[in-house]
Amino acid sequence: MTKRRTTRRSGTSWKDGALVWVNLSVALVRDRDGAPDYFVSVLTDITARKRAEEALLGSRAFIASILDTSPNLIYIYDLVENRNVYSNREVSQFLGYTPEQILAFGSSLFERILHPEDAERVSAHHARMAEASDSATIDVGYRMKDSSGEWRWLQSRDVPFARDEQGRVTQILGFTEDITERKHAEDEILRLNTGLEERVQERTEELQAKNRQLNEMNTKLEDATRAKSDFLAAMSHELRTPLNSIIGFSGIMLQGLAGDLTPEQSKQLGMINNSGRHLLGLINEVLDLAKVESGQNRPVICEVDVGTMAREMFRTVMPMAEGKGIEMRWACPEDLRPVLTDMLRLDQILLNLLGNAVKFTEHGHVGATVSQDDSGVTISVEDSGCGIAAEDLERIFDDFYQVARHSSARSGGAGLGLAVSRRLAESIGARIEVASEPGRGSVFTLSIPERPPTA
Ligand code: ADP
Repeated sequence: MTKRRTTRRSGTSWKDGALVWVNLSVALVRDRDGAPDYFVSVLTDITARKRAEEALLGSRAFIASILDTSPNLIYIYDLVENRNVYSNREVSQFLGYTPEQILAFGSSLFERILHPEDAERVSAHHARMAEASDSATIDVGYRMKDSSGEWRWLQSRDVPFARDEQGRVTQILGFTEDITERKHAEDEILRLNTGLEERVQERTEELQAKNRQLNEMNTKLEDATRAKSDFLAAMSHELRTPLNSIIGFSGIMLQGLAGDLTPEQSKQLGMINNSGRHLLGLINEVLDLAKVESGQNRPVICEVDVGTMAREMFRTVMPMAEGKGIEMRWACPEDLRPVLTDMLRLDQILLNLLGNAVKFTEHGHVGATVSQDDSGVTISVEDSGCGIAAEDLERIFDDFYQVARHSSARSGGAGLGLAVSRRLAESIGARIEVASEPGRGSVFTLSIPERPPTA
């Protein structure tokens, strides 16, 4: 008896009407003479296996549809064959080739679309990927030509996908992002930054050059100022000797000690004497200025009873004030503590402030008020004189500056008193401030610290 078997799968149904998948095997049984005798049929229920196959097919299609909707370029690259074995729809769209064409390009794909400058980097990346562990994700950036022929910057994140028996990675799965815009923005920022750095560098060099120039000029100016001050100091000294003779001898003659004088001679000698005094005052001020500027004399610091000292200066100007019929007011606390300062410099400053107050006041009063707090002693010199306009307030401390409108009140000044006073005050850490109203008077405030800053 010989049998011939054929197998066929087909759908059939149970009694309850449910469709099932079966595998039908039919074998032909022959009689002794070889003629067909009967069939043996075996039906095997393969519904479960069939369902599993369908499910697998369905899930593959599902995964493929997910990959195709991704905005990333997703591919599987075979490191052994050097070619793409899978690309999603985005890859096709990006490159402008169908998936079949991409597969067909094989290993020549890279040569067609990879930027030559990036080829070496991508090869090195593939070599690294071949040795990568399962958990490795390695990024690489490169340029590729898109379907319009434009170079685009891509950033790929690759993971191992398949290995050979030795465990070497044979295929990698890559997720790629088009980062061209980001790259351009970064390049732009880099360009701007470099430009900015260059500009800053240029400006710094310019400023450094200017600084050097200024330093040189400063040194020259300092030398010139010192030379000027030395010259003035020497000249002032030389001038004072003959001037003292002029003042002294004209004074003697005026007193009639050298014989009687006619009224006219007396008048002219008086003018010589006055002019001499005026000139001497001027020279003294110039000498003071020269001394302070040249920094020759350092302040002599000692304990000073400012109340007593101020009182003496106040008394010095009293005769001048009385001669003009000006009331003199004095206010000073009894228990003033001494301060550490240079007494002679304070004398000079205060004499100048009080002298000015009397000089520029025609009626009313001149007052000195002394007070003390933790920071030091303050002396305010107040007058009810002509006052100073706002635009002149700062300038009165400039060398040789005199307010034009005050010309009538000028009596021998050179416009140097306040300039010298301010410099002297600075040299001992003191401050002079002024507040004034034209026509109503002025207040000059001298603030003396408890001790000079360097003590
Ligand atoms: P000088 O008194 O020799 O002219 P100063 O430097 O002492 O020089 O003063 C500069 C100018 O400031 C004076 O010419 C005057 O115009 C103005 N000034 C100073 N003190 C007073 C004051 N108490 N009242 C009004 N003007 C003043």
